[in-house]
Amino acid sequence: MDLSAVGSDVERVIVTEEQLQAKVRELAARIDADYRDRDLLLVGVLKGAVMAMADLARALQRHVEMDWMAVSSYGSGTKSSGVVRILKDLDRDITGREVLIVEDIVDSGLTLSWLKANLESRGAKSVEILAILRKPEAAKVDVPVKYVGFEIPPDFVVGYGLDFNEKYRNLPFVGVLAKHTYS
Ligand code: IMP
Ligand code: MG
Repeated sequence: MDLSAVGSDVERVIVTEEQLQAKVRELAARIDADYRDRDLLLVGVLKGAVMAMADLARALQRHVEMDWMAVSSYGSGTKSSGVVRILKDLDRDITGREVLIVEDIVDSGLTLSWLKANLESRGAKSVEILAILRKPEAAKVDVPVKYVGFEIPPDFVVGYGLDFNEKYRNLPFVGVLAKHTYS
């Protein structure tokens, strides 16, 4: 879906499709090098990471397995509380596996720090994190994100997997949602 299809809902594009694609290829090259001769299991966090996972997996020049989790953070509206509930768990046991969590965005970082600890507690050999976007808030929680795509301002953004009320995920770029869309 193009910008023209969403009219004035998107105030401005902050990461273009070309920038996203180039960044994913760059991160994939780093991951290829870092995980050379190692096992690699990509764990995508539904539903926001679907686009990143699809692009990343195809940019990697090696075999990878993909699994998925769906989690929901309790809490009011747009703020996450850090209390996480698993809606869909992994299909396979991850004991001894080298896991790379693939996420769309780190905001408070609460969801990811919970998820990392959860996967480590299952006996994974390693658990690292990739996030396409990171907001400044993330600095407050000490969640080590090994692979970051772009540092963005604290605005509410949509596209490339990120939604507002389940819409805008299929935009190929990341844009700031116009205030009139949610107020
Ligand atoms: P947190 O890091 O625990 O605060 O939560 C991160 C999750 O909140 C992400 O996985 C997104 O699903 C959602 N989220 C945070 N910021 C945005 C945004 O700007 N647009 C859309 N979803 C967001
Ligand atoms: Mg998410």
